[in-house]
Amino acid sequence: MITVVGSLNMDLVTYTGRMPVIGETIIGKSFKQIPGGKGANQADAIAKLGAKVRMIGCVGSDDMGNTLLESLNNDGVDITRIKKVEGISTGIASITVDSAANNCIIVVSGANNMLSADDIRTSYDALQNSDVVVAQLEVPIETVKYVLSTAKQLGKLTILNPAPAVELDKDFLANVDILVPNDTELQLISGIQVNNDSDMENAAQVLMNKGVRELIVTLGDKGCVHINKLGMKAYPAYKVNAVDTTAAGDSFIGAVAVAINEGKSLEEAIHFATAVGAITVTKEGAQSSLPLRGEVETFIRDVK
Ligand code: ADP
Repeated sequence: MITVVGSLNMDLVTYTGRMPVIGETIIGKSFKQIPGGKGANQADAIAKLGAKVRMIGCVGSDDMGNTLLESLNNDGVDITRIKKVEGISTGIASITVDSAANNCIIVVSGANNMLSADDIRTSYDALQNSDVVVAQLEVPIETVKYVLSTAKQLGKLTILNPAPAVELDKDFLANVDILVPNDTELQLISGIQVNNDSDMENAAQVLMNKGVRELIVTLGDKGCVHINKLGMKAYPAYKVNAVDTTAAGDSFIGAVAVAINEGKSLEEAIHFATAVGAITVTKEGAQSSLPLRGEVETFIRDVK
């Protein structure tokens, strides 16, 4: 069993030819509401890849919250630990995607801010019954800190996607087994500007000195780099026709969690996740772009 602790957002997605500049109004191409939020996306990715997954999080008691719960439930995520909070809106992400598949995102956290350490204590049994615990930083940081320390005390494997990035202290990072930032997040959390491989190794070293055991730095269409105390190894991305990079990282992290939960090595997990990330960017949206297990197996077989 994998438990994901994190955010649920309704993604309000606008597709446009180009991004507006400040003060400018432009006419976009189309608009969609798609279930998203890093936590929910990662939980959904895990369910679609065939693993048992439950989510701990909060939505508002509004229509968007109900839609998010229904959508996760339909995809096989255990939603029994997701709390409905009165008097606050469900989290939203306002996303703009241009014709070159670049995105700009504003998140309004809403109910996600209401997930407390008490909620985690209430779901202690859920952490106890898990093998892998996955978290991000779109819910209060103190709650994530509590999740990671509780999970480690219980001997579980922890995966943290440090997004949105903030500086994280030793107490926090000492409970992270696998840290999965993208290149921008790596710079922000390490405080080191990364222009080349040696900078990346230095930035990773800062975080490993604070207790992180393994880092996987995702680099979009350049693939990813795995770094631990033994060294670093690059994994190139698949060449695909990218239409929307939303949720690439979420699908990648979900895939790493699934493979590790199945007892695969981190190297095998990264190969699997690279395929999952590549398929995700070929489709529009967040949860709507996450592939099923069969699709991933066909993709890996066909490109070999
Ligand atoms: P994030 O969405 O967190 O910024 P990335 O964009 O780095 O994450 O994507 C995560 C992973 O998905 C990458 O490491 C890569 O394996 C895969 N991926 C992302 N963008 C592409 C792309 N354009 N083509 C192929 N694979 C991609």
